[in-house]
Amino acid sequence: MKTSVIIHGTHNEFTLEQMKACIDLAEKYGGSFRHVVTGLQITGIEKDDKPALIAELPDGVRPVVHRGVNSLIACVGKDGCKNGQMETMELADHIERSHYGRSMAHKCKIGISGCGRNCPDSMIKDIAFVGTTNGFLLVVGGQSFHTPAKGQILAKNLTIEQAKKASDVIIEWYASEAKPKERLGGLLKRVGNPLENITL
Ligand code: SF4
Repeated sequence: MKTSVIIHGTHNEFTLEQMKACIDLAEKYGGSFRHVVTGLQITGIEKDDKPALIAELPDGVRPVVHRGVNSLIACVGKDGCKNGQMETMELADHIERSHYGRSMAHKCKIGISGCGRNCPDSMIKDIAFVGTTNGFLLVVGGQSFHTPAKGQILAKNLTIEQAKKASDVIIEWYASEAKPKERLGGLLKRVGNPLENITL
């Protein structure tokens, strides 16, 4: 039976060495590549080969979890795009190191955009940071899924340090308060804004 494995590089980037190693693995196990929202899918491999392929992934590349912090997409931000209003990589590195891959009640997708053009589709992520001239907007509770919805703005004008702290608070809150299979947007509707009494 054929199956696939979706792989994630640090905040969705792959070095040339990692990419070459992944191409070698796809070739070895007879797969091909597709781009999907959570990462890069090596598809068309034999189900029995999947554990071996995962075990041979290069350092810094890992399989995507189904239920958890399973998507972290940051655009290049101010450092790499003329439209960018905020740098994105420092915040993305923080979230990657602190939270990427953690098990959660449901999927938790995170988008970081350097400006309101929102190339990473951040407004429909569970957690989004969107660069403005005054700092990051924090937008929580978006989703595509069966009932697409944009997120709610919970904070404005955040510095990078404040955005890091906000990401920690929101993700810890989701980890501790969500009911099984509850998305972050559902938790927000049920319980209310977790940042209400917090100074970022
Ligand atoms: S979201 Fe803005 S900063 Fe990021 S790549 Fe798109 S246009 Fe550039």
